[in-house]
Amino acid sequence: MGDHFQTIVDLEAGPQQAPRLAERVLEWLVAEGIVLAERTDCVLGPPLGHPPGPNWQRAVGPDDADGDPWDGLAVYTERTVFHGGQGGPEAVTCPRCGTTTRLITDQWELIDAAWAPFREAISAWHKAGEAMVDCPACAEAVPLPDFTWADDYFAFAHLGFEFWNWPELTPEFRTRISELLDGHRLADLWGKL
Ligand SMILES: [Zn+2]
Repeated sequence: MGDHFQTIVDLEAGPQQAPRLAERVLEWLVAEGIVLAERTDCVLGPPLGHPPGPNWQRAVGPDDADGDPWDGLAVYTERTVFHGGQGGPEAVTCPRCGTTTRLITDQWELIDAAWAPFREAISAWHKAGEAMVDCPACAEAVPLPDFTWADDYFAFAHLGFEFWNWPELTPEFRTRISELLDGHRLADLWGKL
């Protein structure tokens, strides 16, 4: 069986805010017993993560309560291109004109003409923390992080909580995290390796 992850990404936290917010969320997760405070080699992304705590069930639905999480939580507090792992971005929607541009063919191959400007912008954002893309539909220059991706495939942000091999996190749990993050807009990424 492959490894999968669920990532709750804060789309609004800036680089200065991210570490403080991460600490607040982590304190709550540890107090609830959802994860442990210590960090071990229990995640597949960064070197260290927080293993599941005694009350990890509080983050998942009752139906999943016997599907033990078998890995931990990785917390990202630096500029990160979060993405959905296997597969690719299917489509992207412009926040200005609302037009959705398909990025793959029916055979799941990337359409290079549509994808190339985004690929370049992603690389630029990764280096510099900002990048603009001309919307393929309305031609307006839009900041890369403002686009919406099908299935939240990408998120360009400074704060993310990546749960490795956990049963599905509940909407209630996500809402609680959102409250702890001052009601910031979140993206929910899911992917597997
Ligand atoms: Zn547009």
